[in-house]
Amino acid sequence: RTRLLFLTSSPIDTLARSIGIMTSEPEFEQAVGEIKSSLGPLFKKDSFYEKAFEVVQVPERIIQFRVVWENDKQEVCVNRGYRVQFNSTLGPYKGGLRFHPTVNLSILKFLGFEQIFKNALTGLHMGGGKGGADFDPKGKSDNEIRRFCGAFMAELSRHIGDNTDVPAGDIGVSPREIGWMFGAYKRARNEWAGVLTGKGFDFGGSLIRPEATGFGLIYYVQHMIAEAESKELDKTFEGKTVAITGSGNVAQYAALKAIELGAVVVSLSDSKGALIASADKGITPEDVHKIADLKVKRGYLKDAKLSYKYIDGARPWTHFDKLDIALPCATQNEVSKEEAEALVKAGVKYVAEGSNMGCTKESIEVFEEARKGGKTWYGPGKASNSGGVAVSGLEMAQNSSRVKWTTDQVDEKLKGIMADCYKLCFKTAQEFDKEGKLPSLVAGANIAGVRKTLDAMKAVGDV
Ligand code: GLU
Repeated sequence: RTRLLFLTSSPIDTLARSIGIMTSEPEFEQAVGEIKSSLGPLFKKDSFYEKAFEVVQVPERIIQFRVVWENDKQEVCVNRGYRVQFNSTLGPYKGGLRFHPTVNLSILKFLGFEQIFKNALTGLHMGGGKGGADFDPKGKSDNEIRRFCGAFMAELSRHIGDNTDVPAGDIGVSPREIGWMFGAYKRARNEWAGVLTGKGFDFGGSLIRPEATGFGLIYYVQHMIAEAESKELDKTFEGKTVAITGSGNVAQYAALKAIELGAVVVSLSDSKGALIASADKGITPEDVHKIADLKVKRGYLKDAKLSYKYIDGARPWTHFDKLDIALPCATQNEVSKEEAEALVKAGVKYVAEGSNMGCTKESIEVFEEARKGGKTWYGPGKASNSGGVAVSGLEMAQNSSRVKWTTDQVDEKLKGIMADCYKLCFKTAQEFDKEGKLPSLVAGANIAGVRKTLDAMKAVGDV
């Protein structure tokens, strides 16, 4: 009877979602549309790409499963688990796992689709995938999260492997959760395998993996600044003001690297509000570490008791009169059209995403328009945040050859990968997009990533 009531009273969308069907996929459609809007010149050059782009939009495989776990009150709880195995042409499926209540197939397909081309831009052998669950770690005890990770991996372990599919972390999945899932995989399969990246250093993790996305983002922006201002790389950030959103792993390490290079970081944020620091003082590295500790304990910035201004319930973008660099590092669609206009008005010269699809389509249009006049240069996440997955690729290489590289070795390789990624985007942009004072890195990244993937799919007979 209850069940019948539930069925008849649910809006069709909620009902469809509860059994894992999406009636519309807004985030995925946004991601496909965003990439496709850059591909006109490529399609014009060879119509093969237009046809093959229809094929690459369809995931090779989607795995959907039930995750049943027990909470501390010994009640049975259920969540939806997913793995989108999107494309395995360039290497094993590779991409993070996200644990967040908003997780659904639209979000995972968008992330998996972006991941294909991001991974292609690293130059390493990794295909694209993404997974996760609509599980909310917020408010859960450590034991509950550990039990959830075990239950999730009990099912996922049948579908992954070091040559098949190698997940990593994403929002809600930190090295701690990776450790728990790695243990669950090892017990289920009686096999130590490099099947997850972002592992603890002692059991196969790579040095610099926690720092990689944030550091890689700054390395990418260094090249943008060096190009636009004809500066030496190590002088690029000196004296610049940098607004960052987010306060997780990506935001923290982007902030620390920017400060190390002489920049002033004027903001960080979380889902409840934003910290704003003055341009003469900036957020100190000590406070970034304090915020990192707070975030491990799942606290909020509003309770951080720091000396900066705190704005409740808002993002920082519209709160600056003057700003040089904006780095969205929180989540998707975190810069609106109006916020983009405010950033351009504040004189922002560089925008680069640490998050995936941090900028809405409309905000990218604002930045791309400003680029044509030589004012603002935008670096899309699939290039600028590829440092994380790049070091995941280096972790896979270390695991399969049973070696360990030093911090300097990994950092040097990461710098090289980000430099090559930037050059590929820049060169491809110059080849296809001649409009404007600065070439479009959006077009460059999209065309380079798609072209490489589709060429390889053709060579292996997939298209
Ligand atoms: N979640 C990260 C990303 O969005 C890293 C994925 C990985 O290392 O596999 O790129």
